[in-house]
Amino acid sequence: MIDQNNSIRQHGRIKQQQQGFTAVRIRTIAGNMTSDQLRKIADLSDRYGQGQLHITTRQSVEIHWVRENQLETIFQEIQDFGLLLAVRGPRIMTVIACPGITLCKRGIGNTVMLATQLNDCIVGREMPGKTKIAVSGCPSSCAKPQINDIGLHGVMIPAIADGCIGCNSCAQNCKVEAIKVRELIPCIDKDKCVGCGVCVKNCPKQALIAKRQGYAVYVGGKIGKKPMLGIKIFSIIPEQEAISFIQAILEAYSRLSVKGERIGTVINRIGLVNFQEEILKQNFSKENNTLGLS
Ligand code: SF4
Ligand code: SF4
Ligand code: SF4
Repeated sequence: MIDQNNSIRQHGRIKQQQQGFTAVRIRTIAGNMTSDQLRKIADLSDRYGQGQLHITTRQSVEIHWVRENQLETIFQEIQDFGLLLAVRGPRIMTVIACPGITLCKRGIGNTVMLATQLNDCIVGREMPGKTKIAVSGCPSSCAKPQINDIGLHGVMIPAIADGCIGCNSCAQNCKVEAIKVRELIPCIDKDKCVGCGVCVKNCPKQALIAKRQGYAVYVGGKIGKKPMLGIKIFSIIPEQEAISFIQAILEAYSRLSVKGERIGTVINRIGLVNFQEEILKQNFSKENNTLGLS
């Protein structure tokens, strides 16, 4: 049997305003589910609820109108089928992610892999306050990393190589007009470039290449009664080190938070530079400090 009290307290139970009824929230990983999983959830909704489901803004699925006295049984069925309850309270919540390179032609980062790893290693961990993480595959930021406590988006910094034929495809595809081609030489305005990598992907001659590729990292974003946009704390970190950076941010947050402050409130109190220094002194060597720090 599952630990019912633990599950009810920590996970997928959201009391409805209607007396005696509860919504049960099931998390996805990067918004993905199999058709079997969706059929099972539909079946649970038919048997325990009223056949009504709701897709949440954080990529979970809610079954509404579950009677509170049936929670233990439905939680057991959810667990037996291998579905995951969502997370509530002062913990690391469900990680949301766009498809990234698994589907999207603009994808730079493997968002689904990162969301899966984060789901396995940190989702549900107790924290000083609610901690939301979102991962987007490119600067278009479809998973809205800037309104999460920790947000990442893929980034690709272009560099100029040989072989330009002057087709102008790079300039035509750059939405922020950061690249111009003159006499078979592409010129990139680094102040305008957002690192979307579209010029690199569209160059037919590999005259533009990826100089660096990874994730930009934001901290301190949130919605709620006092919304805050996250601040870019690292311009680019290697994709394979994303989990280490996230762990280091979480450790710094745990140490510095007072009375359940969320990350943005901690940063407002101590300053971004101090928060960044706290992160870097934990797990990273000096050579990591050459990463693109904002
Ligand atoms: S953020 Fe980028 S990679 Fe992700 S879905 Fe949007 S456009 Fe595609
Ligand atoms: S990486 Fe994106 S923003 Fe930068 S120059 Fe290329 S197309 Fe423009
Ligand atoms: S897309 Fe490539 S080949 Fe075409 S103008 Fe740009 S750099 Fe040159």
